Amino acid sequence: MSIIANATALLADIAVETDRTDAVQSFVKQETILVRLATADGTEGTGYAYTIGTGGTSVLALLRDHLLPLLAGKDARNVEGLWQELFALTRATTTGVITSLALAAVDTALWDLRCKRAGEPLWRLAGGHRQQVPVYDTEGGWLHLSPDDLVKSALAAKEAGWAGVKIKVGKPHAAEDAARLRAVREAVGPDLHVMTDANQSQSLSGALRLATALEPYDPYWLEEPMPADDISGHARLARATRIPVAVGESMYSPAQFRSYLESGAASVVQVDAARVGGITPWLKVAHLAEAFNVLVCPHFLMELHVSLVAAVANGAYVEHIPQLRAVTRTELAVRDGLAVAPDAPGIGIDWDMDAVDDRRVA
Ligand code: MG
Repeated sequence: MSIIANATALLADIAVETDRTDAVQSFVKQETILVRLATADGTEGTGYAYTIGTGGTSVLALLRDHLLPLLAGKDARNVEGLWQELFALTRATTTGVITSLALAAVDTALWDLRCKRAGEPLWRLAGGHRQQVPVYDTEGGWLHLSPDDLVKSALAAKEAGWAGVKIKVGKPHAAEDAARLRAVREAVGPDLHVMTDANQSQSLSGALRLATALEPYDPYWLEEPMPADDISGHARLARATRIPVAVGESMYSPAQFRSYLESGAASVVQVDAARVGGITPWLKVAHLAEAFNVLVCPHFLMELHVSLVAAVANGAYVEHIPQLRAVTRTELAVRDGLAVAPDAPGIGIDWDMDAVDDRRVA
């Protein structure tokens, strides 16, 4: 009995665990949009999407006013069909972030149901490549942290057997970013991957200057150097630097990834399951990237992405930024520097609904 009997949504504000700043913003709170779908046999699937501070009530309104009413009576097994039906319904406001987040909250709930019905964890049902995947730390690399703090965190990650850390860049002068990267590189040696992230802060000339300044210290990638809609700028940068260019966290449809990949503007793809519209389009982007021989290292959402990185052959890294500890009963397991995708049937997130309700705002 896989007919959807009930579909509800709520919005909860989850506080950040530490100050998180980058070149253009600070992460104030996670607005978490939860969708719960119950089928006629009593099975329940929970999905979610998020913002890092604003727009959550808009996503909730789209879900309640337009998307959820359509789901009652539908067969939850037809995940692709339901995604396409909801996408068609939102044609007047797609492609866009509010719509993609709303679709993602529904789609991840449908995948939760699909996995529970099959009795399989997401990492296996979505592909089943391998259960343990590399993880890199971002939590110790925020832009306001001192070079000493960056070095301390990077050394701790290395000590724990992790393969990478990320530091934010985008200080007023590229020389300062280079000095911060140099401090980390000199402390950790040549083997640790050190990612850099400019959060779309640069002009083309700024990005070229920044890449030139960072190159001597062997960054593993330069992430979002410029605004995400500047594909030709990223292509020019990619031709000019030997640092791999990483993009994807600010893209909201698979077609946007196609444009980047076919123009050679991205060497690493950071597709975010919430922002791209759910697990269904996430997998399409991952497979598209594989056809270009490009790695997938998704943005944020480690609690969900660990299973997706584990599912696909080109999944390379999970980003460590803990955000759901206050509202879940399990934590991301890391063993010998590798993140372990959860085994339980479902998408791998064991929500503590009392804790969610305590943070509910709508
Ligand atoms: Mg980023």
